[in-house]
Amino acid sequence: MIVILAPNTDTESDDYRLMMNHLTHLPNVRARVHQEVGTQQTLTEIYLIGETGAVEVADVESLPCVERVVRVSEEYRIVGRHADDPRATWFDYNGVRFGQDTLNVFAGLCAVDTPEHVEEMMKALADHGQMCTRMGAYKPRTSPYAFQGHGSACLHYVFELAGKYGIKVIAMEITHESHIEEIREALGRTGHPTGVMLQIGTRNTQNFELLKIVGRQTEFPILLKRGFGITLEESLNAAEYLASGGNRNVVFGLRGMKTNMGDPHRNFVDFAHVPVVKRLTRMPVCIDPSHSVGTRERAPDGLLDVMHVTAQGIIAGANMVLVDFHPDPPTALVDGPQALRMEELPHFLEDVAIAREAYEKRVATAARYQQ
Ligand code: PEP
Ligand code: MN
Repeated sequence: MIVILAPNTDTESDDYRLMMNHLTHLPNVRARVHQEVGTQQTLTEIYLIGETGAVEVADVESLPCVERVVRVSEEYRIVGRHADDPRATWFDYNGVRFGQDTLNVFAGLCAVDTPEHVEEMMKALADHGQMCTRMGAYKPRTSPYAFQGHGSACLHYVFELAGKYGIKVIAMEITHESHIEEIREALGRTGHPTGVMLQIGTRNTQNFELLKIVGRQTEFPILLKRGFGITLEESLNAAEYLASGGNRNVVFGLRGMKTNMGDPHRNFVDFAHVPVVKRLTRMPVCIDPSHSVGTRERAPDGLLDVMHVTAQGIIAGANMVLVDFHPDPPTALVDGPQALRMEELPHFLEDVAIAREAYEKRVATAARYQQ
């Protein structure tokens, strides 16, 4: 059961104490407080966990400070979209909004290699009005002999260059809890020129201890990639781990499934699940066309497969696109064969805009037919 309090409820007030006193004395029920501090207002929600079957919605709604009570029946208590739960689904981070009706493109380097390439990438993004990017510093590699990423050594120049080019959010995969501290430290040392969205890769979707630790911090939002060999339900439960730890600023990423049925693509593209995730949860949905397709193959119509699947995800309502670019793909240290070239950025962004416009028209048309 979720108890939604009136915006800006003062948690020091007598009314709040009275209400909490009531909730914490319900038999076999635990109350957990979640607070979302925004620039305009502070939202407080209380999750009642345990034997809530006997708790009457009307009774709780009659308590002071309470605006609304939602009975949660589904599995995903926090990230789930519950019946009669039309709450807005977004969060703001470092001036950028992430929600189920926004769209942000994170074009960038799969793996940071040189400061020159980072600068070239960020300059191109700034020239095209982009405020987000992807930059891999910690790379999970199949072979222990493959390049593992520059790690903390590259963070200072990545963050400084992001500041120079007005990049507000960098999606960066972490594979160990110590990386959070390294990122925090580097951001502090460089004067917080940018923000970071912590990415949990497909190989770590069910690394439960990592999920718990990343979920406990609320400084950085999280991009959770779907596990490439597990069910959607299992991956959504991974998102619930993050949220139940305390961090609800989670974006859910589709990146294709590992099966030979997807050949000749690297993974079987699963963007048909964009609307499914939006229906089952309140999370914004990201698509990663690069790791899904894995090549620069082009269809006879002149469009790269990567661009085709990007459009398919966006026309279905995707909210974020994570896509690999590189100034010189043949020399990229990781995933060069799937990287788009810098000169392809304007075309890519224009194609994204076409697909987004088509999606918005489809939503408006659906609304007209539903009247
Ligand atoms: C990545 O985005 O660089 C990555 C390794 O993705 P995934 O975890 O989806 O393979
Ligand atoms: Mn990669």
